[in-house]
Amino acid sequence: MYNSLRVPVADPKRSYLAHKEAIDRAITKVLSEGHYILGKEVAAFEASFAAFVGVSAAVGLGSGTDALALALRAHGIARGDGVVTVSHTSVATVAAAELVGAVPVLADIEPAFYTLDPASLERALAGHISGGHGTKPPIKAVIVVHLYGQPAAMWEIASICARRDIVIIEDCAQAHDAALADRGVGSWGTAAFSFYPTKNLGALGDGGAVTTNDPAIAEKVKMLREYGWRQRYVSEILGVSSRLDELQAGILRAKLPRLRDENRRRQAIALAYDEGLGDAIGRPARRAGASHVFHQYVVRVPEREAFQEALRRRGIGTNVHYPVPVHLQPAYRDRVWLVGGALPVTERTANEVLSLPMFPELTDDEVALTIKTILDVCRSRQAA
Ligand SMILES: *Cc1c(COP(=O)(O)O)cnc(C)c1O
Repeated sequence: MYNSLRVPVADPKRSYLAHKEAIDRAITKVLSEGHYILGKEVAAFEASFAAFVGVSAAVGLGSGTDALALALRAHGIARGDGVVTVSHTSVATVAAAELVGAVPVLADIEPAFYTLDPASLERALAGHISGGHGTKPPIKAVIVVHLYGQPAAMWEIASICARRDIVIIEDCAQAHDAALADRGVGSWGTAAFSFYPTKNLGALGDGGAVTTNDPAIAEKVKMLREYGWRQRYVSEILGVSSRLDELQAGILRAKLPRLRDENRRRQAIALAYDEGLGDAIGRPARRAGASHVFHQYVVRVPEREAFQEALRRRGIGTNVHYPVPVHLQPAYRDRVWLVGGALPVTERTANEVLSLPMFPELTDDEVALTIKTILDVCRSRQAA
């Protein structure tokens, strides 16, 4: 699927090949030690990942979606509680709230940064929501998504939440090592990470983690991931089965030491796109003081589908994250609450965003070809 193009939009196999020796060694080690679930690799990865994020604990889980759901549950979010998040995100963010029986309340985004608009959050907390069924849900938590690798407006959001005792869950699935000034994402609240293969830190299968500075939350998530056990075979609370496995943990341990360099490479590619594309296309804005880790490099184009098709014909892969906002999807349309009854910035954004090829193994030649092809397509559009 990826490789029929001259420049693919993503290529997880290249990530494997870039780390082949270390990954093969890690896999052989796990296979020969013969312990495949919750052993030494998971414990060692949890310790290094917590240190990397700059928090006291990480708990390895089956996926990023589970990480969000178990983070909510660990904070006591349950059936009927309102959870504010955005509609311009992976559907996983909203699915996680639904998994715990919570009621999604979808807020609008900042037009330049595509992340939760603090003003929209304030309106949600003031009760200006409509569209769902029954009585308005009491809002207990916010899932803040650091979309595309750009940190959300955490200082404003954190102060709004502190005033009203709202739990903050950070969705860091696209933002491993992103930061605002010196403060890394994942340190404002309890955070959820995904290790889906194309994420900035990707496994070769599914995986996720919760990170936290609260030992009680870490302990609770550890119990929840395995049937509510603290002690084997004793379910103290209701739990699920969601474990990072030893193979994936070994692979992630092998890759973690180079994550920071790989993010720098993403940032260098982003800079090359910025400089090469100039004003031909709507380029991504960076929040002041933010370290954006460019999970995606997202541009804005009118008549996006035609533009995407023109690039595809010339061998350049692109993707749309995300073409249909969650509140317009069939499964969610008639059940979610919307701040102010409509999300105009979200809907406008979803019609125009286009993600360019972005992964650390992209070559300079591929980046140059992508830029040249986009400029060509822009020129032929102007001529038309
Ligand atoms: C990938 C992703 C998730 C879900 O992660 P999975 O590991 O696929 O379950 C959640 N939120 C966002 C923003 C994501 O990009």
